[in-house]
Amino acid sequence: MTQSFDFARPNIGLLERWGHWAPPLLKLSIASSIALGFQNDAASSLGLLLRLGLIVFVILTWLQMRQHDRRLCESCAAAIPLNASEQAHKHVRKFATAHAGSNLKVVVPYLVILLGSNLLLTVPHGRWPWAVIQASMIYLISAHATHRRLQPWCPWCSDGGGGTEQVFDGPDLPRGRGRQLV
Ligand SMILES: [Zn+2]
Ligand SMILES: [Zn+2]
Repeated sequence: MTQSFDFARPNIGLLERWGHWAPPLLKLSIASSIALGFQNDAASSLGLLLRLGLIVFVILTWLQMRQHDRRLCESCAAAIPLNASEQAHKHVRKFATAHAGSNLKVVVPYLVILLGSNLLLTVPHGRWPWAVIQASMIYLISAHATHRRLQPWCPWCSDGGGGTEQVFDGPDLPRGRGRQLV
C-alpha cells in the first residue's frame, strides 16, 4: 500500500501544486485574455487559437482549484497568518463576494453580463468597458482565495453557512473554530 502511494505521489504533488497556485494562474490568464482582446488581430486564427487555449487552461485550472479546496493543503495551512482574525475584519466584503458566488440568483445574471460583454468588442471604444467587466473576474478569484485562506474566520461560514451577516460585533466570533484548525 505504501508502494502504490509512493508511485502516485509525484503526479498528485504536481496537481496539488497546480491547484494551490490556481488563483494567481487564473488571474494571469484573465489578464492575458484581456490583453489579447486589445490586439488588432484578435479575430485572426492565431488570436482565436490563443484565446481557445486560454479558455481550456482556465477550465482545467479551475477544476484543480476545486479539487485543492476540498481538503486542507499543507502549504495553505502554513500560510495562515498569525493575525488571521484581524485580517478577516478587513476582508468582509470579499467574504460576501465569495458567498454570493454560490448564489445562483447572482451568478446567472453575472454570467449573462460576462458573456454578453463580448458584444462590446464589436462596438467602437467598447473594449474598455469590456475589459472592466472581464477584470471583475480577477476580483472574484481574489475574493475566493481570500475566503479560502481565512475561512475559519468568515462570519457566514461560522454561522453554518446560513447567510446571516455582521456577526463580527457579536460575542461568538468565528475565532473559536479557527483555533481548532491552527
Ligand atoms: Zn494550498
Ligand atoms: Zn464563508
